[in-house]
Amino acid sequence: MERTEQHVAEGSALESALRQLDDAARVMELDPGVHEVLSHPRRALEVAIPVKMDDGTIQVFTGYRVHHNTSRGPSKGGIRYHPSVTLDEVKALAMWMTWKCAVVGIPFGGAKGGVIVEPRKLSKGELQRMTRRYAYEILPLIGPERDIPAPDLGTNEQIMAWIMDTYSTREGYSVPGVVTGKPLSIGGSAGRSMATARGVMYVTLATLKHLGMSVEEARIVVQGFGNVGGGTVELLHQQGCRIVGVSDVQGGVHNPEGLSPLGLRAHEEQYGTIAGYEGGEKVTNEELLELPCDVLIPAAIEGQLTRANADRIRASVIVEAANGPTVPEADEIFEERGILVVPDILANAGGVTVSYFEWVQDIQAYYWSEDEVNDRLRQIMEKSYVDVLNVAEERKVSMRTSATILGVGRVAEAHITRGLYP
Ligand code: NAD
Repeated sequence: MERTEQHVAEGSALESALRQLDDAARVMELDPGVHEVLSHPRRALEVAIPVKMDDGTIQVFTGYRVHHNTSRGPSKGGIRYHPSVTLDEVKALAMWMTWKCAVVGIPFGGAKGGVIVEPRKLSKGELQRMTRRYAYEILPLIGPERDIPAPDLGTNEQIMAWIMDTYSTREGYSVPGVVTGKPLSIGGSAGRSMATARGVMYVTLATLKHLGMSVEEARIVVQGFGNVGGGTVELLHQQGCRIVGVSDVQGGVHNPEGLSPLGLRAHEEQYGTIAGYEGGEKVTNEELLELPCDVLIPAAIEGQLTRANADRIRASVIVEAANGPTVPEADEIFEERGILVVPDILANAGGVTVSYFEWVQDIQAYYWSEDEVNDRLRQIMEKSYVDVLNVAEERKVSMRTSATILGVGRVAEAHITRGLYP
């Protein structure tokens, strides 16, 4: 039996997520009832967020919070502030969170939130008022035992602090475990801000080792220079890799001899972008993806590698630091061309893993050293990499399908063990 058809926009992240689930379900012969349940988010909330702007006018923003699945524990997932946020996109991201938490074996389900907004156009005061009102509107869904948000595209630790304060004010006492990715001063974890990038680094090093490629000779291209992209550039450079191309939303820079992370950071601090950095040649985001390199690391937004450019990608390996950067048609082309894709639900799981550590520390009110955090993260990422690789080799499938099989299998087991209510 096929799962019930859903009305999903063509080319959307949700279409990709559902197709990836279908592919895994077929290979693992997933029970059709479980397949049907896992194709739908458990609940989705849409909220209106009225905000008094600095000029006295009222503007209403639209926000969402989606719980995809909670069979393995409270749901976990970031909050995205971006003008292109849609409910379907948030549903897809929530589904990927479910598989991601299961792939790395942490006791969470998947969720995601988003607000349709360009945060850079708001003043700090407007951003704070919008965040607090959004947090208030999603209060019925969040809580340390229920659903724990974190940063994503366009949000950061300050925004997490405002959400934590809004929730705590309503409860009447401090509840640090309601969000992760908080500043250290209010219960954040050492190592959290670099955790996603550090996980990407561990997975990239494991892939190079698996393929017998040298770390020192590896030429790396990274799309995106935010929390994840910027951190990945720094950490891989420290490992000795050569960063030959980097971009942000305004454009990129290419230098086959290597770029300096410090130089890029200084340029960004001065101009608010790395576009125009003089340490290399100017490239557009489209050109950046097609640069010759060993490892391409998309670390910005979804839908970047498509049927339109998959034939022109010149990397040997793609490590997905962003969520959903490769659409299924491009995956097929990469498979035919022998380009290895290390999927998002494995490659960028370092963030949610250290978010889990942060939540554990908050609940116990006992905090770990950065070395302890990084070491536990390394162990989980390396083990998860081997787990995914083993399933890929056993089943003769791509790493995306094997990671999805692993994640879906663990969620299905929990779902079947608990049974269907009522
Ligand atoms: P961020 O907002 O800190 O940075 C995003 C970067 O992408 C910026 O450099 C921005 O200029 C660039 N960008 C935005 N739109 C772009 C476009 N159209 N073309 C090229 N570049 C563009 O966000 P982040 O937290 O680094 O997240 C990046 C990706 O990683 C997202 O897909 C997110 O879902 C994923 N991710 C983030 C985390 C985390 O812990 N922050 C964890 C897992 C996955």
